[in-house]
Amino acid sequence: MSELVLRAQKLDAADELAPLRSRFVLDTASDHAADAAGIYLDGNSLGALPANVPGRVEDVVRRQWGELRIRSWDESGWWTAPERIGDRIASLVGAAPGQIVVGDSTSVNVFKALVAAIRMAGEDRDEILVDATTFPTDGYIAESAARMTGRRLRALTPAQVPSALSGRTAAVLLNHVDYRSGRLHDLPALTAAIHASGALAVWDLCHSAGALPVGLDEHGVDLAVGCTYKYLNGGPGSPAYLYVRRDLQDRFDSPLPGWNSHADPFGMSPSYAPAPGALRGRVGTPDILSMLALEAALEVWDGVLVSSVRAKSLALTDFFLECVTAYTEPGRVVSVTPEPHGERGSQVALRCPDAGEVMKRLIARGVVGDFRHPDILRFGFTPLYVGFGDAERAARVLGEVLG
Ligand SMILES: *Cc1c(COP(=O)(O)O)cnc(C)c1O
Repeated sequence: MSELVLRAQKLDAADELAPLRSRFVLDTASDHAADAAGIYLDGNSLGALPANVPGRVEDVVRRQWGELRIRSWDESGWWTAPERIGDRIASLVGAAPGQIVVGDSTSVNVFKALVAAIRMAGEDRDEILVDATTFPTDGYIAESAARMTGRRLRALTPAQVPSALSGRTAAVLLNHVDYRSGRLHDLPALTAAIHASGALAVWDLCHSAGALPVGLDEHGVDLAVGCTYKYLNGGPGSPAYLYVRRDLQDRFDSPLPGWNSHADPFGMSPSYAPAPGALRGRVGTPDILSMLALEAALEVWDGVLVSSVRAKSLALTDFFLECVTAYTEPGRVVSVTPEPHGERGSQVALRCPDAGEVMKRLIARGVVGDFRHPDILRFGFTPLYVGFGDAERAARVLGEVLG
């Protein structure tokens, strides 16, 4: 047995998070042909199904909806679900309760957060900065928000942001982890620089929440958004969330002031008066089926420390990179994921010219990652259910496919 296989076995045996895998529905060896690996490295795109979700959804549909019907808005806690689930997520991103609501998509929450930030910054600040390397939807929304609010939009890399800040900057929209390269940006330093210029910092946490500590309150982030179907395993299209720092909530002027964020939603008043607190970020009737599936999914985090998840994530990506180096001809792939731990998210991105074809063959062999145009192989490491043996086998199959 090779040295790497033995190391993987030792690392798995010592892994205190290994038992969490049983909280998920994943392939077992018998689900696959002898040479198919059954390794899921795409949890940064769609997290695996937590085992308790199907039963919960069944109950929500059959009993809460089917039997209690409209009573469930109160009796099953439907109406308050956006704040209640927001508080559960808050504990995973370093936020005290009362600052996060769940609902809508990340794209919609980017819009709410960015326009609200521009409004809070005041009329004399006429520029918005956006991460030029962002997942495209954030850039599209920022462009529209700029046009609607009459501001100028500048697209820059996060490294260029500090020198571009000025008294004209209203808000800056950044990604905590780059979706393509897996680079972790320096949220504390960038937030501090943005604040020093008097602007507001809006962070997209899609690729960091559930994978590493975020520290929203500690670092004074103004507004943040994120999705719940990646590292939070909420299911396809599960609702996103919006964080509004407590001391900004009174000034949060939503560009989408729906009736769910009204101070008295059932007063049915023709004029709008915003509710206090985070629920000002709500819009319309919440998507209860998805939302309560997410609530069940978040139970896999009970008793789990994000710091332990981070430690395992770094060990996994280190080990995977080491295995790739051992199993692959030098120069065949180039890692674009930063070496230093302080600059790495929870994925490994490898560049190779035939990445699209390589990923197809990997998937056929049971190693599921994804391909990002034009030449990136992306492997997500979700420490709740991926082990060191998975990393070693995935690298070995990759070496065979590339060879
Ligand atoms: C996944 C992701 C999104 C997804 O947006 P949706 O509105 O949920 O489709 C947005 N931004 C970033 C940075 C992402 O990684």
